[in-house]
Amino acid sequence: MENAPIPPISLWRAEFTDPATERAYRADIQHRMARQLRLALYVWAALLLLFGLPDYQALGGSTVFWTLMGYRMGTAALLLVAATALRSRPHLAPEGRLVLWLQLAGFPFFFLFLLLRPEMRAWTIGMVMIVNLSLFIFIPGRVALCAWVALVGTAGTVATLVTTGTAPTLAPGLALLLTLPAVVGFISANRLQRVQRQEFIVRTRLQQANADLTAEIARRTELQAELQRQATTDPLTGLLNRREFAQRFALDLARAERDRSPLSVVLLDLDHFKKINDQFGHAAGDEVLRQVARLCQQCFRSIDSIGRLGGEEFAVLLPGASLDGAAAVAQRLGQQLAATPVEFGAHTIPLSATMGVAERLPHEKTLDAVLQRADLGLYAGKQAGRGRVMVSRPDGQIVQHADAIAPPVSSPAPGASGAQTL
Ligand code: GH3
Ligand code: MG
Ligand code: MG
Repeated sequence: MENAPIPPISLWRAEFTDPATERAYRADIQHRMARQLRLALYVWAALLLLFGLPDYQALGGSTVFWTLMGYRMGTAALLLVAATALRSRPHLAPEGRLVLWLQLAGFPFFFLFLLLRPEMRAWTIGMVMIVNLSLFIFIPGRVALCAWVALVGTAGTVATLVTTGTAPTLAPGLALLLTLPAVVGFISANRLQRVQRQEFIVRTRLQQANADLTAEIARRTELQAELQRQATTDPLTGLLNRREFAQRFALDLARAERDRSPLSVVLLDLDHFKKINDQFGHAAGDEVLRQVARLCQQCFRSIDSIGRLGGEEFAVLLPGASLDGAAAVAQRLGQQLAATPVEFGAHTIPLSATMGVAERLPHEKTLDAVLQRADLGLYAGKQAGRGRVMVSRPDGQIVQHADAIAPPVSSPAPGASGAQTL
């Protein structure tokens, strides 16, 4: 994680000086804060109404009681409306203005209380002190706003006290008394705000670093998979390359020896492939190779390994397949190839392949040993006229499996427009 400094936080307001950072911080805390604030507003409204009881005890159902009660009920209703509004607009909580206005609307109650019940002066002063302190708890995000409210409340209270008969000489002392809790509230809230914002920066940086790291791990995993793919496959056809094919043989060999199961190899070489290149171009030749790969993938089982050993030579490992079984699949592939000419531009290119099949003999421990015998079959097949499957028997005899594969039925006669013969 980078060690960048924490963005500046203003001394007086304890907010980020950068508006975007401050916005991000408020968005981060808004839901938690709206929840806490709603609870505070409910408590505030409940206390406001509850203190109507001592009023009633002292005043009975007098006009003074109902005036005070009216203000109490009006303010409580306002608080409940605000608490409801916070449900759908949580951003109002860290923004602070909502509570600022509620406090400003709530404060005059004390002025009214002082006017109507001067005998409760000491009690009221105590309450204003509590309010001045709790302001900073009610609006935790905005110390500067709280300070303004405390100032207005203190000035209003002192002014009302003086108007209702307190000696003006007491005003500075009263103002100091009322301001003290606000100063304590301001200093502690200011410090808390600063620490919370610093913590926010550290936490978001940590989250970012975590996200970057996760993305980097994903990128590297992907890269590793890609490198692995490139190292093991042939880029043109996506089939296994010779090295990976040999690895698969080693695995299949181990399993075959353990289970005493057969392991056969089909070696395939396209017929007259050079002519395809010469006649239709290298791109057409590439498309033919891709088509052969696709057909091989369709023809063989998922446990079979299909490799491109080079040029237009393919090989397939068939674990569990006997010589006859492998030859039958090879014959089917040959027929499939013959029936699926490659469409390349305006050309239809017929496909034909010769295949040699061999089953691993118990003493054969290498791929080359088995491939060599399959290759003998392949060679014999080419000699015999191509387009056929030849089997290398354990006794060394090479025999043709089934009939030679017929040319594609759908392929038009030589010389006909569109299709070509080779
Ligand atoms: P045969 O029936 O006897 O197998 O004849 P052939 O023409 O298929 O055999 P040969 O080995 O003479 O030709 C193989 C050709 O394959 C020669 C080479 O240019 C071509 N070749 C090898 N690799 C690629 C490739 O990746 N793409 C293309 N288009 N051609 C390739
Ligand atoms: Mg060939
Ligand atoms: Mg060849």
